Amino acid sequence: MKKILIGTHNRGKFREIAYLVSKKIKKISPETLKIESPKETGKTFNSNSKLKVNFFSKYVEYPVISDDSGLCIKALNYKPGIFSARLAKKYGSFYKAMKYILKKMKNKKDRSAYFVCSLSYKDRKKRIKTVSGKVYGKISHEIKGTKGFGYDPIFIPNFGKKTFGEMSKYKKIKIDHRFVAFQKLKKIIKIL
Ligand code: IMP
Repeated sequence: MKKILIGTHNRGKFREIAYLVSKKIKKISPETLKIESPKETGKTFNSNSKLKVNFFSKYVEYPVISDDSGLCIKALNYKPGIFSARLAKKYGSFYKAMKYILKKMKNKKDRSAYFVCSLSYKDRKKRIKTVSGKVYGKISHEIKGTKGFGYDPIFIPNFGKKTFGEMSKYKKIKIDHRFVAFQKLKKIIKIL
């Protein structure tokens, strides 16, 4: 059976990417191989996803897929952006980071935001392909829902009323930024 290393320690991301990749491919996690994550020193989502895929592919002979993603809020100068994970670390939890964001958004009229995902794929011949996808929506007024992960409970995708945190995982997986990026990748890498 073909294998792929899904280069992320984030369980939510792993679950989503594993769901999107063909059932014919065995999904391996960095935990199984006892590999840590690299430092995210890039200044963009694309540079960080490439940095991750380059790092993880040093450990295996088969293909690797890595994602760098985050939440960009227009009224906050598109922050936290690439610092989305680091914001949660700084405040001690995603819940506290969401509280902080909602406080910052208190008097903002424009609550538009998007999630972005950069996906990098490195094949066994060490060729890299990078694509990205976005999902547009707005920041809710409250933390709502217990499903999903990260900032899901404060993001309402356009054309809906529910936050990602209130949606079933199957619904979210088929509309989110990772899905959009993955569809682009699948057009280039047919085996996925
Ligand atoms: P990084 O790509 O490892 O830097 O982490 C990106 C951060 O953005 C993570 O901490 C996630 O929680 C958050 N994030 C990325 N994608 C999603 C999503 O689909 N839902 C909620 N939060 C997300």
